[in-house]
Amino acid sequence: MNPLYEVYPLHIENSLTGEKELFSPVLEGRVGMYVCGPTVYSDVHLGNARTFTSFDLIFRYLMHLGYSVRYVRNITDVGHLENDADSGEDKIAKKARLEALEPMEIVQRYTVDFHKVMGQLGALPPSIEPTATGHIVEQITMTQAILDKDWAYESNGSVYFDVNAYNNDGGDYGVLSGRKMDELQAGSRALDGQDEKRNPADFALWKKASPAHIMRWPSPWGDGFPGWHLECSAMSTKYLGDEFDIHGGGMDLKFPHHECEIAQNKACTNHNGARYWMHANMLTLNGKRMSKSTGNTILPGELFSGTNDQLIKAFHPSVVRFFMMQAHYSSVLDFSNEALLAAEKGHNKLLAAWNILQQASAKGGQGFDVQAWKDKCYGAMSDNFNSPILIAHLFEAVKFVNASEGGLAITAGDLKELQQSYKTMVFEILALQGVESQSAHKDALDKAMDLIIELRAQARTNKDWSTADLIRDQLNDAGIQLKDGSEGTTYSL
Ligand code: AMP
Ligand code: ZN
Repeated sequence: MNPLYEVYPLHIENSLTGEKELFSPVLEGRVGMYVCGPTVYSDVHLGNARTFTSFDLIFRYLMHLGYSVRYVRNITDVGHLENDADSGEDKIAKKARLEALEPMEIVQRYTVDFHKVMGQLGALPPSIEPTATGHIVEQITMTQAILDKDWAYESNGSVYFDVNAYNNDGGDYGVLSGRKMDELQAGSRALDGQDEKRNPADFALWKKASPAHIMRWPSPWGDGFPGWHLECSAMSTKYLGDEFDIHGGGMDLKFPHHECEIAQNKACTNHNGARYWMHANMLTLNGKRMSKSTGNTILPGELFSGTNDQLIKAFHPSVVRFFMMQAHYSSVLDFSNEALLAAEKGHNKLLAAWNILQQASAKGGQGFDVQAWKDKCYGAMSDNFNSPILIAHLFEAVKFVNASEGGLAITAGDLKELQQSYKTMVFEILALQGVESQSAHKDALDKAMDLIIELRAQARTNKDWSTADLIRDQLNDAGIQLKDGSEGTTYSL
């Protein structure tokens, strides 16, 4: 049998060309994918989690198509400075100083948190999860190779990539982001360390460590630490080869991070690194990008427990994942309680229909074209991983299933096919968490709670405060909290 990737050929929007292209991997049947991982100096917020969940969907679908995938996602545990222009303190060293801890205690704490959150969101672990501190030798070797080409220079114990020298020798800095050299040069800012650079567009490959800096390694240029961009070039090519298939990350990493990676890769290997560069779009909160630095964040854990003032209730991680899957990975997604409530409804409807479908019988007929439907589901996913369109097709099946009484009007063979494909799409690819009966219980609980909330509201209208309080207190004892808001009363467990 032909592999699914031949039946449903994949098209990917490539940020490098700005085009949607037929995916053609370096090695037939195999995919090497590198995704920039988190800088582990604080809890991952929901925005970070969205990017990693988007790539989990991509990872899952690639595997489902029959590719053998090596997915490398790093942990940044050194070198990411507070400012992208190579200035400010190392984020991890700063947190360690503020908390009087070892940097590796910070790294451990937030790596564990990251894994926990991604596990809750149903994300599979990557095949390799390398760290920047574990690849210092590789980064020094690359820095030396770029110096040997005269595309880098040493300045006061630091080494910078020489963007002009690279471009004058045929390099194409700006190829990914579309930025022009004159714009970059005009963007000069009087930041600390900038005077060491020949050109404001140059970027650090290696930074000299000040005497107080704890994270330091010996190098041919003195004690220091690697620049942030270099780790990803070093680790992606080490594990995936000079030319590999997919490089991903959040949209905000396109420039300067990925632009710099491409220049480093070109300098060392003559390849861009990946053939396909993919960028996941941002999660916004109140219309602004969710970002640690502005404090405009919600943590996944707060969402799962309902413990954030901006939330009207708790949401199950599977609902949160579904909320993310309802948007295309390349679209901006705005967080709101209303959107989460709508996602919860859709999510539960999808799972409730699965309960029916699982037990349904076929009464024969052609009430639903299962093969055409299946082709549309795969077609959506093979068209640049279009999960919202996939979900729309799943709801066509939900409609058919829910409308059928006394058996589905399809053949027994089609029923089997429908069950199998529905299950694959919902549980394997979208990876909603499949304790199907939970959602049926949840529906029943929602209905019972609506009734109790209504009875309490009536008691309050009748000024029967003792009954109203009794209801609230007894529910509290049972672990159910009521929350009165302008839109009415909601509950959380
Ligand atoms: P960091 O730990 O800051 O390096 O970020 C980890 C990943 O999260 C990167 O791929 C970022 O692009 C991504 N990211 C950061 N903020 C957001 C956001 N608001 N929405 C989606 N992804 C984000
Ligand atoms: Zn990276």
